[in-house]
Amino acid sequence: MKEFDYIIVGGGCAGLSLAYELEINEKLKNKTLAIIEPRAKYKRDKTWSFWKVAAHNFDDCVKKNWENFSINIPKKTKHLECKIYPYQSIDSGLFYEKINRKLKENNNISFFKDMSEINSKNSFVFNSVPAIEKKHHNLWQHFCGVEVETKNDFFDDEIFNLMDFDCDQRESVHFFYTLPYSKTTALIETTWLSKMNDDSQKDYDTQIKDYIENHLNLKDYKIIYKEEGAIPLFYPINEKVRNKINIGTAGGMTRLSTGYTFLNIQEHSRYIRENIENIAHAKKYKIGNKYQFLDDIFLRVLEKHPEKMPKIFFKMFKASPKTVIKFLSNKSNFFEDLSIIFRMPKLTFIKALFY
Ligand SMILES: Cc1cc2nc3c(=O)[nH]c(=O)nc-3n(C[C@H](O)[C@H](O)[C@H](O)COP(=O)(O)OP(=O)(O)OC[C@H]3O[C@@H](n4cnc5c(N)ncnc54)[C@H](O)[C@@H]3O)c2cc1C
Repeated sequence: MKEFDYIIVGGGCAGLSLAYELEINEKLKNKTLAIIEPRAKYKRDKTWSFWKVAAHNFDDCVKKNWENFSINIPKKTKHLECKIYPYQSIDSGLFYEKINRKLKENNNISFFKDMSEINSKNSFVFNSVPAIEKKHHNLWQHFCGVEVETKNDFFDDEIFNLMDFDCDQRESVHFFYTLPYSKTTALIETTWLSKMNDDSQKDYDTQIKDYIENHLNLKDYKIIYKEEGAIPLFYPINEKVRNKINIGTAGGMTRLSTGYTFLNIQEHSRYIRENIENIAHAKKYKIGNKYQFLDDIFLRVLEKHPEKMPKIFFKMFKASPKTVIKFLSNKSNFFEDLSIIFRMPKLTFIKALFY
């Protein structure tokens, strides 16, 4: 069976981002790479959105940039500007196509459906398939979104809505998220932060229909795309194994308080490429202990007091948008952290340290 210098298990966001980063930086000229991916065909299946706080390789896959956003709780709306760090949405269909086209040009890169097709004994493995233990107390961000199209202009595509908490909370944390791509198209998502043990939250189609028709007051539209997912708000099992690094969700690249992962994956890919010659001995890449600690407290509060969360999120955005964006994107300095922390209900957060 064939052997390879490197193996990437899972050709999704992290696996393909890493392969692309290595390829465009000529790290695969004299090395061989096998990508293991079971899916039969790539098609658009996700929309990756984030504040662009760092450069990445996929500006040409961006569906839309926004410089303004809003957040709502019942009877209150905040409008914010994000010119310095525009919010971007990446179309996964364009991303898969761009990367696969590039990788196919290099004969040192091979694609397989299953690990059993190759000999992995002497290879360095980058694994993006998470080992997730199903535990009833784990929190998830689970959601469903539809892209709708209208005949007439309906949306204001200059501003997106990050969180609209003016909806049924069902003893969890629930909000809608609207990304208007144009005046006639928008992605509208229902998002829950919960333990996923309440099946009644999964009537996503009904929730979205009701929001579109009775909240946005849009009656004449058609659904042209749908995506659904669940992001673990806990770290998958990540044991230290010789000659193996976990990447993507499996490698702890999700910011637990927000679910944002895409840009962390890009930064991790860059780190691996910079250290590829000595990767077996490189220091483990992490989002940062500070954020792990703060997110842990934040999620404890969320678990204990879901009813307080809409106001907590709303209050967080009383700090300057630049500060909040940097904090949520793991780029904040000590003073920016303090400016966020001081806006949180102190007693609730201090108590959470002892739950
Ligand atoms: C619908 C959705 C929307 C999201 N939106 C955002 C967003 O807006 N912003 C953001 O920052 N993050 C977002 N995320 C979170 C995160 O960015 C994505 O989940 C991202 O795809 C994670 O990349 P990954 O490579 O870890 O996992 P994936 O992209 O899921 O890749 C894993 C790959 O492994 C393959 N695989 C599975 N089993 C095996 C096996 N046994 N052997 C080999 N391969 C296998 C799968 O087919 C898949 O291609 C979203 C997640 C989902 C699910």
